[in-house]
Amino acid sequence: MSENRTEIGKLGEFGLIDKISENFSITNQETALGIGDDAALIDSGDHYTVLSTDMLLEGVHFDLSFMPLQHLGYKAIAVNVSDIAAMNATPKQVTVSLGLSNRFSVEAVEELYRGIKAACDSYKVDLIGGDTTSSRSGLVISVTVTGIANKDAVVKRSGAQIDDVICVTGDLGGAYMGLQILEREKQVFLANPDMKPQLDKYDYIVQRQLKPEARMDIIHELKDFGVVPTSMIDVSDGLASELFHISKQSEVGMKIYEDKLPIDKQTYDTGYELNIDATTASLNGGEDYELLFTVSKADMEKLKKHADIHFIGVVQAKEAGNIMITKGEREVILQAQGWNHFE
Ligand code: ADP
Ligand code: MG
Repeated sequence: MSENRTEIGKLGEFGLIDKISENFSITNQETALGIGDDAALIDSGDHYTVLSTDMLLEGVHFDLSFMPLQHLGYKAIAVNVSDIAAMNATPKQVTVSLGLSNRFSVEAVEELYRGIKAACDSYKVDLIGGDTTSSRSGLVISVTVTGIANKDAVVKRSGAQIDDVICVTGDLGGAYMGLQILEREKQVFLANPDMKPQLDKYDYIVQRQLKPEARMDIIHELKDFGVVPTSMIDVSDGLASELFHISKQSEVGMKIYEDKLPIDKQTYDTGYELNIDATTASLNGGEDYELLFTVSKADMEKLKKHADIHFIGVVQAKEAGNIMITKGEREVILQAQGWNHFE
């Protein structure tokens, strides 16, 4: 061990992952894709096996004072399936590992598993194993998911080409805005436990935070349309961060238009009420679990009638950078903020 000490926050999550991966190389012929995408790819002969893992920690990723256990179980599976979707693949199996403190009862664990079961049914995946240990610092849920991908249809972060169209599904910023409301209502409740939280007006964005869905529906529809994106990633850390991942790995620049960003009215209205800019929430908020992908211009024509796929910009030369044209037609340079867990 050297005497030097570098704070993790200085490197950031992605810098740290880069540093870890520097010392590892791929040695097995079956390892088709390692660290750096939404999931790894393992050559299984006529198809790829797709593998990804995501961990949720109490106090970091969820707050049990407003996250019902059933929803948490569902979300733990959905966010993992989302990474499989981002490879244009189909999820098949999950393992679920739990760290439990004695604060949790058998009934609580059963409730968590009701949500896990609902997600397994909904995404047609089998729970095939896991691990259970005690925890001294709250609830830990770690999920690993496997899936399969057709070799000629698998989509990485690295295939975007200049002039491709940048697409995003659903709407953005809602999960972040929902979280702001849940945290506000928690403070109100802590100050006065007789106050009932007023969430009706915020039903959509609260649901976006508490019960995200992986967009497997889009993956099936892209197949029906005969469209294979040139690159794809799921929006877990915020649009800006995901655009940067595609840009870096595809060695291209990204140009998006603020007025094309899909933002729900409830996200706008709540942003206005809380004095949070809805565009900023879309770019940097995260947890929307929508799909961001690029397609050729010819494939864009096939998707034009799809109500839930939005064309937000174009891929440009790397030298032109990652930029957004604002509603006022100004050009701003995008910052890859995303979430830095270590700051
Ligand atoms: P996502 O947001 O899609 O889940 P992450 O940003 O968590 O992806 O991870 C990016 C890549 O880095 C993935 O390939 C992931 O497997 C890898 N990765 C993350 N943490 C580690 C780690 N501690 N050791 C090795 N690889 C890691
Ligand atoms: Mg991802």
